[in-house]
Amino acid sequence: MPTSDATPAVDDAPTSTEVAFLGLGAMGRPMAANLAARYPTRVWNRTTSVAEAHAAAHGSTAVADLAEVAGAQVVCSCLPTDVEVAAVAGALAPALAPGTVWVDHTSGNPAGARDIAELLAGHDVGYLDAPVSGGTDGAASGALTTMVGGDADDLATVRAVLDTVAARVVHVGDVGAGMAVKAVNNALLATSLWAAAEGLTALAAQGIAPTSALEVIASSSGRSFATETLFPDRVLDRSFPHTFALALLAKDVRLAGSVLAGGGVDGPVLHLVEQLTSAAAVELEDADHVELVRMLERAVGVELSSLQ
Ligand code: NDP
Repeated sequence: MPTSDATPAVDDAPTSTEVAFLGLGAMGRPMAANLAARYPTRVWNRTTSVAEAHAAAHGSTAVADLAEVAGAQVVCSCLPTDVEVAAVAGALAPALAPGTVWVDHTSGNPAGARDIAELLAGHDVGYLDAPVSGGTDGAASGALTTMVGGDADDLATVRAVLDTVAARVVHVGDVGAGMAVKAVNNALLATSLWAAAEGLTALAAQGIAPTSALEVIASSSGRSFATETLFPDRVLDRSFPHTFALALLAKDVRLAGSVLAGGGVDGPVLHLVEQLTSAAAVELEDADHVELVRMLERAVGVELSSLQ
C-alpha cells in the first residue's frame, strides 16, 4: 500500500552505505552535495570536468568511467529524460552487484521507467522512479518532495538516502507512478504559469499594477505557485534566473499528455498547454521556463515590473 511520510529518518541512516549519483545538472549538483555530506558518494557526469569540480567542492569522488560507480549499494540518477537513463542503465547494469537499488530522480515517461525497471531486474537490481519537485532551492536545502513508484521493500532499503535529499517522501504506487504524478504536477505548473501571464498582462495593459493584482490574488482563490513565488521573485524584478529549462517543462507537459491518454481522458486544457509550451520552447531556445511570460508581454506590449 502506498504511503506518505514527511518525517525525516536521516538520523537512522547507515552512513557506511555507498552511494553513486549520475548526472550533475542544476538538480543533481546540489542533491549529490547533500548526499556527499552524509555518505561516501561517487559522482559521474557526461562532462567529466563537472564531476571533478563537484568532488573538489563537496568531497564526493569523481569517476570518469561509468563502470566505476559499480560497488555503490544505491545508484541515483537525475538526467533529462528516461531515454538518457535507459542508455546509462543499459551500459552500467552488467557491472552492478545484485541487490543494488537504482533511484531515478529524472522526470521521465512512466512506460520508459517500467522498461528500465525490467532491464535492471534482469541483473537483480531494484528500480524506483523517484522524480522530485521543489526546484534548485529545494535541492540545495535537502527539502525536495519525491514521489516514488516501485517496490515498498526497495523504498525501505533506500529510505534514509531519500530523506537526505527530500523533506517529503510519498510512495504513490508501482514503478512508473512517480513519473506519472510528476508529469501531471508540472502540467499544472505550466497551466498556472500561462494563465497567470495572460491575466496579469491583460490587467497591466489596462493600467492595473501587477504588484496590486498579485497582492489581491495572494489572499484569494486564484493563487498558485506561479502567482505566489514565480511572478513576485522572478518576473517583477526582471531577474528570470535559469533554474529549470523551458524545454524540460515542455517535455513534462508532453508526458502528461500520455498520462491523460493512459487514463482515457481527452484533456483539451492540458493539450492546449502542451502545444503552447512546446511552441514556446522552440521559439525561446535555452530559456528558463518562467521566460514564457516574455512571449505574452511582447504580444501585449507591456512589461510586468514591480516599478509599475
Ligand atoms: P540540466 O539540464 O541542468 O542537467 C542535465 C544533466 O544530464 C547534466 O548532468 C547533463 O550532463 C546530463 N546529460 C544530458 N544529456 C545526457 C546524455 N545523453 N547522457 C548522459 N548524461 C546526460 O537538468 P536539470 O538538473 O534541471 O534536470 C534534470 C531532471 O530533473 C530533468 O528530468 C528535469 O525535468 C528534472 N527536474 C528539474 C528541476 C529544476 O528545477 N531544474 C526540478 C525538478 C525536476 P552534461 O553536464 O554533460 O551536460
